[in-house]
Order: sequence, then C-alpha cells, then structure tokens
Amino acid sequence: MSDLRQQLRTSGMGVRPTILIVEDQEIDALVLREMVRDLGDVYLASDGPSALALANQHKPDLVLLDIELDGMSGFTVCKAFKADPKLCDTAIIFVTAHVQVDNELRALETGGIGFIHKPLNAQVARAHIKVHLALHEAAKRLANHDALTGLPNRALLQDRTEQALQKARRNNTRVAMLLLDLDNFKLLNDSLGHSVGDALLKDVADRLEEVSRSLDTVSRQGGDEFVVLLPEIASFDAVGDFAERLLVAINSPFSIKGSRYDLSVSIGISLYPDDAHDAESLYRHADSAMYQAKVDGRNRYRFFSADIEQSTRGRHLLEQHMRSALDARVFEVFYQAKVIADENKIVGMEALLRWRGEDDELISPADFIPLAEETGLIIPLGKYVLQQACLDAKSLIDQGANIIVSVNISAVQFREESFLQMVQDSLQISGLKSCFLELEITEGVLAKNIQRTQQLLSSLRTMGVRIALDDFGTGYSSLTYLKSFPLDVLKIDQGFVRDMLVDKSDAVIVDAIVRISQAFELELVAEGVETLEQVSALQSLGCRIMQGYLYSKPIAYEEFVVLLHSGGFGFK
Ligand code: C2E
Ligand code: CA
Ligand code: CA
Repeated sequence: MSDLRQQLRTSGMGVRPTILIVEDQEIDALVLREMVRDLGDVYLASDGPSALALANQHKPDLVLLDIELDGMSGFTVCKAFKADPKLCDTAIIFVTAHVQVDNELRALETGGIGFIHKPLNAQVARAHIKVHLALHEAAKRLANHDALTGLPNRALLQDRTEQALQKARRNNTRVAMLLLDLDNFKLLNDSLGHSVGDALLKDVADRLEEVSRSLDTVSRQGGDEFVVLLPEIASFDAVGDFAERLLVAINSPFSIKGSRYDLSVSIGISLYPDDAHDAESLYRHADSAMYQAKVDGRNRYRFFSADIEQSTRGRHLLEQHMRSALDARVFEVFYQAKVIADENKIVGMEALLRWRGEDDELISPADFIPLAEETGLIIPLGKYVLQQACLDAKSLIDQGANIIVSVNISAVQFREESFLQMVQDSLQISGLKSCFLELEITEGVLAKNIQRTQQLLSSLRTMGVRIALDDFGTGYSSLTYLKSFPLDVLKIDQGFVRDMLVDKSDAVIVDAIVRISQAFELELVAEGVETLEQVSALQSLGCRIMQGYLYSKPIAYEEFVVLLHSGGFGFK
C-alpha cells in the first residue's frame, strides 16, 4: 500500500478539525478566531445555549470556552458537554482572565484539558491549541482504528453503518454488510507464530481495501474477522460479484519473509432492508450467513436470504458454465436463411449462436447473451462467431453460392477498441471478401458515443463491410440515425411482422418502415415471417426479403449446405 493511503487511513481521512469559540467579549472572540483560522473550521458562539446548539450541529473537535460568560457559566457549559454522550469526547480549553488556582482546579475537574490566559498571547495560545488538536486527533484515531492494520475498528464501523442506514432509509436504497472470516487462520497463527500471523492480517487488510471502493468501509472486528460495508449497491448481482472479487483477492498466494502462504475466506452477506432493519441484526445475519459458508465448505460466500442466494448463485453457475463451455468449444453457429420471396431464392444467412448443453439440448442465446455481455465473455464469444461465420461463408462461396453472411454484434463488442482489427482479422484468416460480410447492430449501439460510432461505421464501409440495423422500430428509432450513419439494411422487428395482420397499428408501422427504407435507399428484411399471409402482406407493402420459420429455422452448417443445394423453396 502506498504511504499516502497509509497516512489517509490512519489520520482519520485527513479531515480538517472543527473548532468552536465560546466568548461573549466580541473583541476577544475575533482575536481568537484570527488566531486559529488556519487550524480548522471555526464557529463562534457568544453564550452557553447557542454554543451547545452549534456543537450539536457541527460536532467540534475542540472548544475554546470563556469561563466568565453571561448567564450560563463556562463551567456549566463544560459540564453539559461532558454529560452528552455525543459531545463528551470534545476537547475543551478554558479561556480566562482570572489566574486563580481554585478556578483552574475547578476547570480541570469539570473536564477541561487546558488553559489560555487573557490578555491573549497569540503565539503561546496557538502552541497550546495545536498540541491539543494533535492529541485529540491521535486519541480519536486510537479509538476508531485497529492498531495492527490501521483499518476502521468495530466502533467506527458501527458509526458508519448507522449513517449508511439513515441515508438508505431516506433514499430508499440498499446497504450490504459482508462479514469475512479467514478459514483455518487460528491453526496457522498458532503453528507459525504471531508475527507471521500479524503480517498476514496486514496483507489481507491491504487486499480487501484494494478491491473496495473509497466509499465502502473495510473494517477489522478483531482476530481474523473483517467486515466490509457497502453503503450503496446497484443490485444483488453486484454484491455477489464483489464477494467473488474478495474471494479471488484472498486466494492468490501471500508471501511473508520469502515463504508462501495460501489463505481462503468465508463470507456472509446480509442486506438492508431485505434481511434486517438495524445495524445489530444486519451484523447478526451476516454472521449466520458466514457460518453457513463455512458449513458449505469454506472459501465461498453466502447470502443470508435463501432467495437472493438462489438468484445470484444461478447466475454465477451460468457464468462458470459459460467459461468452461468456451474452453470446451461446445458453442456452435447456426444459420437462418434470408430469402427473396418472389423468387424463393436464398440470398443471405444470419449467424445465430447456439450452446449445446450437457444433455445435448440447445440453450437459446436469449438466455446467456445478456450475462455474456455483462461479464465481458461476449468478447471471446463474439469473436468466435464472427470467425466461424466468415469461414463457413467462404466455403459456401467456394462451392458456388452467392450469399451474404450476417453476424450479430453486441454493443459491448462494438465498444471494444480492437473491434475493427478483429473484423479485419476474421476476413483475412477466412479469405472471405468483405462484400460478403454484413454486421447486424441495434439502435442502442448507435445511441452511444455518436462520433466514434460514425467513424467506426465509416471505416467498415470503406473496408466494404455492410451494416444492418436490427430490430428496427423497437429501440430509440430516430430518423436522424438513418441520415447520420452509413447503413445498408433495415430489419423490421419480428414483433411487428407477427402482429401486423391482427393489429392495425403494427401494420401502419410496417408500412412506414417500408417507406423509410425506400426514402433512404436501404435494403429491407422482414424477420420472424411464419405464414404465407404475412409474406403477401409484406410483399404488397413493398418488402421483398424475408427471414423466418416459414422458410427455415436456424440450422447447423451441414444442414444449411443441403438447404442451399436443394434449390430454394417450393411456395408460390
Ligand atoms: P435476433 O438477432 O433478432 O435474431 C432473430 C431471432 O429470432 C433468433 O433467435 C431466431 O431464431 C428467431 N427467429 C427467426 N425466425 C423466427 C420466426 O419465424 N419466428 C420466431 N418466433 N422466431 C424466429 P435466437 O437465435 O434465439 O437469437 C436471439 C437473439 O440472440 C438474437 O436476436 C440476437 O440478438 C442474439 N444473438 C444470437 N446470436 C448472437 C451472436 O452471435 N452474437 C450476439 N451478439 N447476439 C446474438
Ligand atoms: Ca439479428
Ligand atoms: Ca432481430
């Protein structure tokens, strides 16, 4: 960890101290304020009650308190501070013109920690104040931080949890508490000696902090138990992902004095408001979830709530599954024909990803593409589809076919810096001419980062690759897109095609899309065509190219070759 972080961590985050001056002589008050102005944020009060009100609002670290106040005396104010649990830690320095021993004794007895004498000697007074501020700061740090790791301790965590809960109640948001307990640490500590144990705990603390955001609180409860508080969470899945990162962080080997140590940790997670409404039960539930993680075999996390556990575990299983499927190459690319309706001739094919599961059943991309996008797995997956599609198209063309292959590109792929290069590589490796490749993107892709998208699309156009706008009409559909981006094809979303015969407004939309495509000189493809009635309705509106189950479902490459050679479709 950097020195700066260590400093910040141990200095109570480097916050400027707050100083309250309580003085009824205006001149003295102003002199005092000038004296300490650069040492902290300064507030002024001229009597006891307003001093207490200000203190409750601003929680001063230090109070400069005149003894001879009108009404409530300085002693009474001091006693009031000491009697209030929220203010009792405040450092109080008395300011007085009376140099009398019994006065000083009384001030110390009521809880003051020092004196400044009037008339004020600025240099001496400042020196006093600085020493007391530093002492106060050190005491606060000791009270709120763990001596070994420098992390916030149980008391500070308690504070932060209360704050986080208050805020979450106001904003209707969630808070997560993760309780971490190192696996078998006591054994290690006892057998290796405490100095190694301590060094390991410090390294663990560093790693936990590295994984966390600055607004999260990483705290040590004592022993080998840590708590991470997430005051703002986006979703259950995000918490699961975070817990996963903590596991990974602790799993990589530690090196202490040249020796290697392998650790693991069990994590229990509880959530406000789903599992608990107050700090204490949040902690208790995180603890029992942690216990469940130990029972289930350690080195894992568990949510307190069984439902949340189920939903996130399913997702992580799917992700792990997908990773190994990528390695085992059980993904396949299927193809669906695009047909010129009046000639029954295949002119194109859309590559659609298929995942062959364990029992040979096919898993739909709709079930795993969203997660692949979230986890970044879409990058290797999408690359595989593009390369395979180019190879297959090339071999069809070599067999004499005249066919364009289209490949779906997700927004995540499109945003990758290496995207253009990946397209070039796929063409080069396969030997496919660029004019036979079409990329299907959705309107969502166009809506983001317009300038870069324009550049990318122009580069693709220059290369000779065609661009189709998929699911047209469902997204942010805007005619501006059609004007400002170099596009070649519009695909009418299957929802409109499905309902155009029963729903008048869908028929009107299809009609409008056909006209738009004509006005912008874009090729038009209707997808999801299932009946001859739909074909003739689409044809009468002016749409020629169809894709849908009526002609062919997506099929494996070998089947597609057979379909091509069979010479089209026998409808009239
Ligand atoms: P899409 O691009 O809109 O693809 C069309 C979907 O409609 C395909 O579903 C196809 O099987 C289905 N379909 C085609 N004709 C008909 C029909 O007549 N009736 C009905 N009911 N459905 C029809 P699929 O293959 O399950 O793909 C779903 C979506 O997954 C695709 O929607 C696409 O967004 C995405 N996807 C598929 N493969 C890839 C890929 O390689 N990369 C990326 N990024 N996304 C892909
Ligand atoms: Ca598509
Ligand atoms: Ca589509």
